[in-house]
Amino acid sequence: MRTFLRTPLAIALLLGLALRFFGLSDAIGHVYWNLGYKVNHQSAPASLVLVSLDDTAELTTGEQARLLEIVRQQVPRKVYFDARIPYGISKSGDAKLAQSVAGFGKDIAFVARAGKVDTYGATDFKFPPRDIIGQAPIVVSAWNANFLYYVESGPYALELNGRTFPSFSASLAGVNDGPESVFYPDFSVDPVSIVRIPVKALLKGEFAPGLLTGRTVVISSSSQVPLLGYFGHATVAPLAHDIAGAVALQKPVSLNITFVPLLALIALLIIVAGRKRDRRSKLLIYSVAIATTFGLPLLARTVGIVISPDVSIVMLAIYGSIRLWQKRTRQIQHTSVSGLPNLLALSASSLPVGRDVVVAVIGRYEEILATLPQELHGECAKQIARRIAVGSGEAEIYHGDSGHFAWIEEARPLEMQLSHLEGLRALFSAPLQIGTHTFDTNIHFGLDRNEGLDALTRVNSALASANEALSNGRAIELFEAHRLAEAPWELSLHARIDEGLRNGDIWLAFQAQWDFETQTICGAEALIRWNHPTRGPIAPDAFILQAERAGRIDALTYWVLEEAITAALAVNLMGERFQMSVNLSAQMVDKADLVTNFAEIVQRRGIDASLLTVEVTETSSVRNRPAACHNLTQLRNLGFRLSIDDFGTGEASLAYLADLPSDELKLDRRFVSKIVESERDRVIVTSTIGLAHALGQSVVAEGIEDAATFSLLRELGCDLAQGYYLGRPQPFAVFMRDYEERLSRRIGRG
Ligand code: C2E
Ligand code: CA
Ligand code: CA
Repeated sequence: MRTFLRTPLAIALLLGLALRFFGLSDAIGHVYWNLGYKVNHQSAPASLVLVSLDDTAELTTGEQARLLEIVRQQVPRKVYFDARIPYGISKSGDAKLAQSVAGFGKDIAFVARAGKVDTYGATDFKFPPRDIIGQAPIVVSAWNANFLYYVESGPYALELNGRTFPSFSASLAGVNDGPESVFYPDFSVDPVSIVRIPVKALLKGEFAPGLLTGRTVVISSSSQVPLLGYFGHATVAPLAHDIAGAVALQKPVSLNITFVPLLALIALLIIVAGRKRDRRSKLLIYSVAIATTFGLPLLARTVGIVISPDVSIVMLAIYGSIRLWQKRTRQIQHTSVSGLPNLLALSASSLPVGRDVVVAVIGRYEEILATLPQELHGECAKQIARRIAVGSGEAEIYHGDSGHFAWIEEARPLEMQLSHLEGLRALFSAPLQIGTHTFDTNIHFGLDRNEGLDALTRVNSALASANEALSNGRAIELFEAHRLAEAPWELSLHARIDEGLRNGDIWLAFQAQWDFETQTICGAEALIRWNHPTRGPIAPDAFILQAERAGRIDALTYWVLEEAITAALAVNLMGERFQMSVNLSAQMVDKADLVTNFAEIVQRRGIDASLLTVEVTETSSVRNRPAACHNLTQLRNLGFRLSIDDFGTGEASLAYLADLPSDELKLDRRFVSKIVESERDRVIVTSTIGLAHALGQSVVAEGIEDAATFSLLRELGCDLAQGYYLGRPQPFAVFMRDYEERLSRRIGRG
């Protein structure tokens, strides 16, 4: 029931009923009938003739008597007298009129009209004087009107002063009552089409002979009565309503079945349409529902059944709007390339209980797309989604950009869940076959098990974990709940980095590099530092990662380059050639504007680019490898030296070496620190040095902490040395003082 109440149909139904309850749907009913009867017309019955008194001043009773005599000679079926009788002015006139009336016997009736008509019914009736009409029957014209004084219904009969009077319409139609106490006029009768003779023409005898014979004649003046609204025709004299009422009462039934059956029918049609799978049947049923809502009430009225369309119209309009809105948001929530729902759709959904959120990221996704023609991009995503769907057993796979796919999994015990994902990972060891292209790829997972948190947070957590898994080269990363406490900090990081750069909390340290051959300090590596005022020093590995996530890595990188250049220019002024190394984040190397920005900076600062070394690490988090290789080649063409950092630890260092035109290899600290005791590491370092030299590269050993390691590396033929043994990373002023000291000592010696 709760879920039904949230469906568009239920919302539309409830709103429609609420609007009706507060009377707000009446206006729609009014517009409907008013427009409906503009198109639906029929002529008034020819068996009725109106003798209109509207074209002269009010007749005296004597003249009224003469008029009745002329009419009587034509032998009408029945006469209704529907005008004021100016009784008591002329005694002789009054007597003549009374005589004429008596002469009609049962074939005349008088109409008493309400002086006031509103939503509560008719009041203030004007009755003809008994002295004149004698025993002739009186009929009443009484109506119930809507909020705009448009007639809706009238009673069959009315009790006034203890006597019951039939209504004019009922008398015209020759009926007494119906299944309800009120009846509903047929407004398709065109008031203009009522056969009418102006009284002047009648008095002069200017009318077709036999026009009144056998007909119902209504002698009527509209000058004393209020005009009333008539659907399709604004306001008209109420005689039109009496005739429309009579026409309705001659139909087989006269029944108001209210709005309920139509509303139920339309709701049923909508439910049936919802069950249909194909668009055409759906569309057909919706069309039937709309046509029924608008056509059926008018059609039913032609046989005397009144159906209110208002609630159904309101309901349809609300239902349609909700569906359109849903369609639009669904369009937004679908990625255009693959047609799969995107992560936004998952984030906006309400996650069922007992589910884990999984985000998978495909390694080298951008690279795969780059080699594929545009039209196969969607196919690529779909094929990955299919493979995930097969492996996970979940039907709905969401697709974010940059090769992220998400879904929800049954929350198994952790061990089971991890081995389940391992199984899924195995599926991706088989290459992807897209068109004629074959790709090897791998998949990394981020898992969020924090049930109870909202979908957006959970998807983001799983996403962050997946990215972390990708950059660490791990299969699965679990999002730990306690890290949520870090979230506000991470979210505001963007602003904090800018602030740190401004107020000097972020600064550069310089660590010396030693040249074994010349036995001098030949350069330094610039290493970033952050002394956070409340969190203390933050390790660069950690905050570089956070800056990447916060989208602040560009700003940091260019700031580092500018600072390093300032330092390099200062040291080079001392006379000796001094090489400055900077680190380039994996997230930066494939950026489209990297090369232009670097070129602009060196040009503006007037430094020879060959004094700068760019250190890059091979990690799988480089998204677009071809673009990265292109950028690095361009940088080298500009004169920058290129260094492969952490050599031997990356996933594909050798492949990188083959692709990249580098100048230098930096042996990772993990091998260097153990070469004295570990034979194995010594072998690795020795052969790497050999390989590098064979390829024309120089070799830097980093992380040298003691004299033994230092001398061993010199023996092994290493070119440059870096490590605490030679100097810790220092603020520039300290570094500069040491450098100058060594320089002067050497000059003093030399
Ligand atoms: P890395 O490029 O491998 O930098 C060398 C790291 O080894 C530095 O850590 C340095 O302080 C440390 N180190 C140097 N000599 C020794 C030693 O003898 N023993 C030991 N145990 N460690 C030594 P740090 O400064 O913490 O930087 C860590 C990493 O952060 C760097 O690794 C680099 O990847 C990154 N990083 C630092 N500054 C920047 C920067 O400006 N931009 C980018 N993108 N990354 C940076
Ligand atoms: Ca480095
Ligand atoms: Ca390193």
